[in-house]
Amino acid sequence: MAALPKVEVAAAGAKQSAVINFLKESPKNLLIGGKFVAAKSGKVFESINPANEEVLALVAEGDAADIDEAVKAARGAFEQGRWPSMRPAERARYLFKVADLIEAHSEELAELETLDNGKPIWESRVVDVPFAAETFRYYAGWVTKIYGETNPSDPSMFNFTLHEPVGVCGQIIPWNFPLLMASWKLAPALACGNTVILKPAEQTPLTALRLGELILEAGLPDGVVNVIPGFGPTAGGAIAAHPGIDKVAFTGSTEVGKEILKASAGNLKRISLELGGKSPNIIFPDTDMKRAVGSAMMGVFMTQGQVCCAGTRIFVEQGIYEQFAEALSQGAQKMTLGNPLDPKTKMGPVVSREQYDRVMGYVKIGKDEGAKVAAGGEAAGGKGYFIKPTVFTGVCNEMRIAREEIFGPVAATIPFKDEDDAVLQGNDTTYGLAAAVWTRDVSRAVRVARRLKAGTVWVNTYGVLDPISPFGGYKQSGFGRELGRYALELYTQVKSVFVAL
Ligand code: ADP
Repeated sequence: MAALPKVEVAAAGAKQSAVINFLKESPKNLLIGGKFVAAKSGKVFESINPANEEVLALVAEGDAADIDEAVKAARGAFEQGRWPSMRPAERARYLFKVADLIEAHSEELAELETLDNGKPIWESRVVDVPFAAETFRYYAGWVTKIYGETNPSDPSMFNFTLHEPVGVCGQIIPWNFPLLMASWKLAPALACGNTVILKPAEQTPLTALRLGELILEAGLPDGVVNVIPGFGPTAGGAIAAHPGIDKVAFTGSTEVGKEILKASAGNLKRISLELGGKSPNIIFPDTDMKRAVGSAMMGVFMTQGQVCCAGTRIFVEQGIYEQFAEALSQGAQKMTLGNPLDPKTKMGPVVSREQYDRVMGYVKIGKDEGAKVAAGGEAAGGKGYFIKPTVFTGVCNEMRIAREEIFGPVAATIPFKDEDDAVLQGNDTTYGLAAAVWTRDVSRAVRVARRLKAGTVWVNTYGVLDPISPFGGYKQSGFGRELGRYALELYTQVKSVFVAL
């Protein structure tokens, strides 16, 4: 058994006593059938604060045996429970209640997220937590509006469709937006009447477990939401392969997405995949340069660049390339690195030692490929997984730093000649999650937006997401659309009923 964490040291700087109390109840157990229970194996793993490398909490390590139990609980709640068949207005109220509870605990959740993930507290406060609450509220609104249709059938028949829940859903989420990804997954699934087994990433299980507590507090029936932290190949693999799970929704790397697709073939699960990206952010000269630079910085450095839709390939028209790269590099150099709990901090640590090694590996690859470091290019040193925001110039789109997803604070700036060249280079990637174009020319903005092969295109902005609007990938960035009314399609199946008259 690992030693109990020294919570006050690991969570130094946390102000919320609720956070300290939550962390002190160690180990954090699995949520199955409305109860928090130890893993069957008795195993636990450590959740680390990436800012100081201290153990925040011990967490029960779910594996196939626990997934089995969770499937039984979720199946029971789906087949015998009230959840799928309760009055929609009543189900909506539960989701509104979850949103209210997230808001009521917003500062606590923000601190917990920042401790577990390393993202600056201003981000947790402004983005992760409020967006999580909004997502539950948005889908609470949909519960009473999931319509089938009546069809113009032969007059001897009455034909109508029902949009029914899919059943038991397995949801596997990453570590970059732990609470928010849990909300993007849970809220639409629950709105449609499904029951869920959620597996948070092993690096960041804490806010999903706290959300599990809030969901119980909101009064959702036992077994409707089960939360099983554990490792990818074991807990995640068991979800992907389990014959008792009807649908899997996954957000993570393209590599693992392919594994999940293969593993799910056994019982032909419905699958939705939101995978990696190498998104182009295209800057034409006729734009507000100051805004474009500021937005490009946010687009590539937010959450330490560990964002699937990060604008990592910044294409700049060759006439303004030097000027733009210089402004971006200066901005990067000015970003305050430090304790992510400090509201002034703009850049925290990357999430884990593994991620730190991976990102630093890519920084070296960039240098070896001949790109020039215009900012950063090194670790910050000291304790914690801090990497200085890095800007490479002189990058060409063939380099590995322009082709492979780094998932860290590393920007590749690439010059382009004209509109055709920008679109050609922008689309020259295996990914297609997002893209942006900066120009004051409306026609060009729309032309380029149409030509870019990406699930989301921003014009004169970057990174805007909203529960009202679909999000998902073209090409190897995955398939299926989360958010908006499109997510309802992921979590419902359509039944056609013929009634002879
Ligand atoms: P990253 O490389 O960014 O850590 P991953 O795709 O490895 O992203 O992880 C995203 C989620 O997928 C995590 O919850 C992780 O535990 C899970 N995962 C990793 N490998 C597998 C696998 N083989 N099967 C199912 N889930 C997995």
